[in-house]
Amino acid sequence: MSHVAFIGLGNMGSGMAANLVKKGRTVRAFDLSAAALDKAQADGATKAPSAADAVKGAEAIVTMLPAGKHVRAVYEGEILAHADKGAILMDCSTIDVASAKHVVGAAEGRGLAMVDAPVSGGIAAANGGTLTFMVGGTEAAFARAEPYLAQMGKAVIRAGNAGAGQAAKICNNMLLGITMIGTCEAFNLAQRLGLDAQTFFDISSKASGQSWSMTSYCPVPGPVPTAPSNRGYEGGFAAALMLKDLKLAMEAAQGVEASTPMGAQAEAFYQLFNTLGGAPKDFSAIIKLLNGSWK
Ligand code: NAD
Repeated sequence: MSHVAFIGLGNMGSGMAANLVKKGRTVRAFDLSAAALDKAQADGATKAPSAADAVKGAEAIVTMLPAGKHVRAVYEGEILAHADKGAILMDCSTIDVASAKHVVGAAEGRGLAMVDAPVSGGIAAANGGTLTFMVGGTEAAFARAEPYLAQMGKAVIRAGNAGAGQAAKICNNMLLGITMIGTCEAFNLAQRLGLDAQTFFDISSKASGQSWSMTSYCPVPGPVPTAPSNRGYEGGFAAALMLKDLKLAMEAAQGVEASTPMGAQAEAFYQLFNTLGGAPKDFSAIIKLLNGSWK
């Protein structure tokens, strides 16, 4: 029986591979980390000794790796040479647009179908099978990838041709970084002006200042009980990953000469926050830099 090869079983890939198993797929897994592979095996996948071995004979190949250099190395070093011609290749990592286009081009050059399919939603969504996939690739490649991605997420949306999935992801996350800083500034000013945080939330969340940053990840504890601000800014979306995505957005903006002054400010502010030790905290913790409570 054919199988799905899954490479990169870290925080995100682990839950995604487990969901494919739960949906009845046979999964062959590879990761450089022995602990990650043990976890995948415990979740029902079989271990492969290398990426090349995992992809041999696979009908579909999913990768969930840290950054563009890992994706280029794994595809160009192992996957492209060993994948079956009939396999569909899906890279779900968040990487730079140039690397995404390059790897898809290299796959197509060998007659292989591939999409870039980065995700929105964190570890909880990966575990729960509720990710949103933003997909770049031909319509034919999208149609082949969609049934696999749908088993790991709640929405699978084609953004355009190769690289468009990564483009959609970094534009979205640039906007998210900017709105979070704006939301933090507004709460800080409101409190300094003597407004109660809950009262400001009740008004602004129903007025034109409303955004996901306010209503889902409200940076002050209280108004949104499920927000990371209520648990010491633990869990959620790490400031380190927000900085990574802002850097990717700024790199892409430079490449196409797009003006992104607010994105550049957000990158600089998250860089400062990361340098001061904020990297592992949820990105909404940046409010602590503004209100002077960051230690
Ligand atoms: P992670 O570091 O936990 O996992 C990456 C895994 O890839 C690790 O287990 C590592 O050992 C493995 N790996 C690295 N090089 C490899 C190689 N050559 N061969 C095989 N395995 C290799 O990272 P993560 O949090 O799972 O994130 C993965 C991707 O998803 C990143 O691009 C990240 O930006 C993106 N993402 C993460 C989140 C999140 O909340 N963590 C949310 C959305 C998107």
